[in-house]
Order: sequence, then C-alpha cells, then structure tokens
Amino acid sequence: MPLDGSGISVVDRRNLLKIFSAAGVAAMGGHMTMQARLSEALPVVLSDDYEDVNTNALELAQAIQQMSTPAPDREAFVRAFQKQTKPILADSNNLKSYLQKMENFENSHHEDVFLTPNQNSLLGSVFRRLDRVQNVVGHGNFNVLSFDDALKMGKRYSSVGEFPKSEKEFVEDLFSKNPRGYGFYGEKVISNLTFKVAEREMRKIPRTGHFLYRGEPEALYKQVRRDLGDKIFLTSGIRSVVKQTHLFLAKTIQSKGNLSRASRSLAPPGHSYHGIGDFDVGKVGFGAKNFTEDFASTDEFKRLVDLGYVDMRYPKHNLLGVRYEPWHIKVVA
Ligand SMILES: [Zn+2]
Repeated sequence: MPLDGSGISVVDRRNLLKIFSAAGVAAMGGHMTMQARLSEALPVVLSDDYEDVNTNALELAQAIQQMSTPAPDREAFVRAFQKQTKPILADSNNLKSYLQKMENFENSHHEDVFLTPNQNSLLGSVFRRLDRVQNVVGHGNFNVLSFDDALKMGKRYSSVGEFPKSEKEFVEDLFSKNPRGYGFYGEKVISNLTFKVAEREMRKIPRTGHFLYRGEPEALYKQVRRDLGDKIFLTSGIRSVVKQTHLFLAKTIQSKGNLSRASRSLAPPGHSYHGIGDFDVGKVGFGAKNFTEDFASTDEFKRLVDLGYVDMRYPKHNLLGVRYEPWHIKVVA
C-alpha cells in the first residue's frame, strides 16, 4: 500500500474500500477507520472544561493503545497519529492552546503557516482561472470536474485561458504538500491529482446541483429524506480535487494566505472525504447557517442524531486540526 512521508496511507476510493474490508474493519461492526474511531473517542476523552487535561491526555493515549489492532495500515496510522499529537499532548498548555485555536478557527494564531511569497503571487490568478472554468462548465459539473479536464477547458476556451506552467505547479505543490506542516492532521484520501470519478459511479441529485456516488452514499441520502422529509437537502456531495482546490483557495484568499487558518475549516485538496463518498446536508431555508454550529440546534439535526445518521467525521475537540462540523454526514468507512 502506498504511503506518503508521514506513514499515513494514501489511497483512492476503490483502494480505500478494498483495504478496509481486507483489514476487517467491517467485522468490527462500526464500519469505521482508526481515524474515525479516534475522533469518536476524543470528545469523551477531552472534557468541555479544560481542567484535568493531563489526565485526559493519558486517557487519550490509552484509548489509542486499546484501539490499535494488528492491521498494518491501522498501526501506521496510530504511529503517525501519536507522532503528530505528541507535541499537542506533551503538556497541558499546548493542548489548551490547541483546543482554543480550534474553537476560534477563524482567527490567526502566531504559529500559523502561510503560503510562500511566490505562491502568494499566484493565488489570485489560479483562483480566478478556476472560477472561469466553473463559469464555462457550470456549477454542477464543476463539482465533479477532474484536473485534466480543467486543463483542457483552459486550452479550449479563450475565456478561461491556458493554465501557465507556474499555475499548474502551484496546484501540484498544494496537492502534494503534506498539510501536517500547517496543522491539518486528517488522512489523505485521494492520492492522484488527476483522479476522476467515472460517470457510471455517480448520480446527479435533482434540484441540488450536486452529485453523490451510487451505492451507499446515494442510498443513505434517500433514506435520510424518507425519514426526515423534503426539509432536509443535499448541500454538498461529491467534490473533485479541482472543486476542493477552488474552495480551499477561496478560503486561503479570505485568510490572507494563512494555510493553517484555511485548513481549520476546510480540508486541503486530496484530504476531503467528499471526494470519496461523504456529503453535507442542510435545512431548506437555513442558508449559510447550514454550515455553522447553528445547524446543530435545529430540530432537523436533532432528528438526524436521534435516528443515528450523525456519525461525525469532525466532532467537537477532535485532534485532527478541523473545526466541529455537525452538518457533515460520514459515509465512507
Ligand atoms: Zn462536509
């Protein structure tokens, strides 16, 4: 299995499913990765008040130990996770500062990492070119557009313009750079910049402008709608690497080149589970509040929880470097 520098497995959708079924995750009953299991354990381990953080860190370490099983990929993940979180857990001040940073994810912090000056000079032009690609192919199709197809659009349409070498390199660098360097600890789930979702593997969801993978994600979404009604709808489905790059760059522009701050609210390209099956739901008429903690106070969200749909990818106080995201429905094991 291919590993990146950190020892975390780098897999595409098909490999991911293959690997986890081979690892017997299904037999564990919960269809969860080690990362998911860790995430799930964390809110229990890390209490709301920040007292006793040392005890909690110890409990966390023990929880990690208990969850490590013989599957090689999971061992690699646990090792990498321990290495990443060691500085956070090393002393209570670090843990406290980490948790406070995640609570205030939209603020800058002194240890944040920024784009290089060269990257900064390209940030706007890459973003705008992707924007123009989106205008040509339409918002819906852009959600699932591959990088190769984006490049083709650049060549084909003068309104987009061909991607210069510098801009291609910018996108490649962002995709290949290990985001642990700027504080994002989630797994890389798509290993190829040029990964493309096959037409037959996805389905467009009417009136949403979004796509879902056929099979489990589509079935789960339909089930949610059957149980909760038309008030719940798909706010974001499959996101290609290009789509995630566009979103991430928008966030990076908003945060003035601060990669750490951008990655606290959005997974960097290649690291979003939207690429391999997860999706977001919202409440009709709730607008942008669907992507805030306010969503967690809606009756719809409470029903989602009661019916067991909410198996959180990024729970409160996760140690993956990502803010709390109650609207995100985890599908992929
Ligand atoms: Zn999401």
